[in-house]
Amino acid sequence: MKIKAAVTPGQGKDFIIEEIDLAAPKTNEVLVKIVATGVCHTDAVARDADIAPLPAVLGHEGSGIIEEVGEGVTRLKKGDHVVLSFAHCGHCENYLTGHPTVCETFNDLNFWGMNDDYSHRLLKDGKPLSTFIGQSSFGTFAVAHERNVVKVDKDVDLALLGPFGCGIQTGAGTVLNSIKPEFGSTIAIYGAGAVGSWFKYDNGSKNSRP
Ligand SMILES: [Zn+2]
Ligand SMILES: [Zn+2]
Repeated sequence: MKIKAAVTPGQGKDFIIEEIDLAAPKTNEVLVKIVATGVCHTDAVARDADIAPLPAVLGHEGSGIIEEVGEGVTRLKKGDHVVLSFAHCGHCENYLTGHPTVCETFNDLNFWGMNDDYSHRLLKDGKPLSTFIGQSSFGTFAVAHERNVVKVDKDVDLALLGPFGCGIQTGAGTVLNSIKPEFGSTIAIYGAGAVGSWFKYDNGSKNSRP
């Protein structure tokens, strides 16, 4: 299908809004009409540094409405409101022990830019564009694996939910999993955005983000 997307044509280049082709969802994938997307620092890094192949459609904090589901999808249906997040394999030891953020194939799935059969989901005039972090949300529609799509209540404004896909869970994870504040303790978070600024905490680790 034809969609409009903010294409990053090359390193350090401005986004260009273009009409491109998006492949239909495969067996366990869903097509999402994007309602809103956050813009994360990692999108800027991917635009300016060499962490993912370009040209690409970046964006990894999408929220939207399910438009179509692949034939193997059972827990999501057309019309569901969803937030999109990072891709993970669904079967490695780290995933099965509750740590999908350190999936053993995280880098391949999120930064490789193509499907696991070497095909591309996004094309511009027949030429491949890389996908990014399991979604490429800087477009009017995105396709994602059902595993990295989370259903949300319809009475919550989708325009506010995109950053749950990365920034808010990153900040919350740092507080809950690394700082592990005791009940009743107080935390000050400095800096703008869902993640805040860099700071140093005294548990032997290097810099982290609140
Ligand atoms: Zn894995
Ligand atoms: Zn991010």
